[in-house]
Amino acid sequence: MFLDKELKKIGKKNIRVYLDMDGTIVHYEVGNADNYDIKRPLLNRINNVKKIISEYDNISFYILSIGHEQKHIDQKNKWLDKYLPEIPKENRAILIRNIRGNKPSPEIKRDFINSIKTDDIIVLIDDDPRIIDAVRKNNKNNVILYKDSVLSD
Ligand SMILES: [Mg+2]
Repeated sequence: MFLDKELKKIGKKNIRVYLDMDGTIVHYEVGNADNYDIKRPLLNRINNVKKIISEYDNISFYILSIGHEQKHIDQKNKWLDKYLPEIPKENRAILIRNIRGNKPSPEIKRDFINSIKTDDIIVLIDDDPRIIDAVRKNNKNNVILYKDSVLSD
């Protein structure tokens, strides 16, 4: 598996891997933020995550995702309970972005990542190049960034 080879390069340090959801472990449906319960899980990627969780004590997985309202957050939690319960609730950061608010998603995720206080290595996996770019340009925690395709194969 490619991801576990990549993470092994980091060494024996404690690693926190933050996973995006839409387009990363869930099939991204353009223009449909609702009906999360029937969204298609990207099973090959999810199984790779499960394998790493079961094999490595020094690697923990977290969720970093955004919803527009509370019902989306509830739906995403239900989806995770069904397809990836190995990531416990306390490791899930599902943040609200008010559509009328003026803070775009890349800044919300960047600010969240910058606010983490830990000596662990932080890895972020996301399919959105705007998010990767925002974190890369203002990267207080030396986050290691990967596009979603790192999860495949
Ligand atoms: Mg995404």
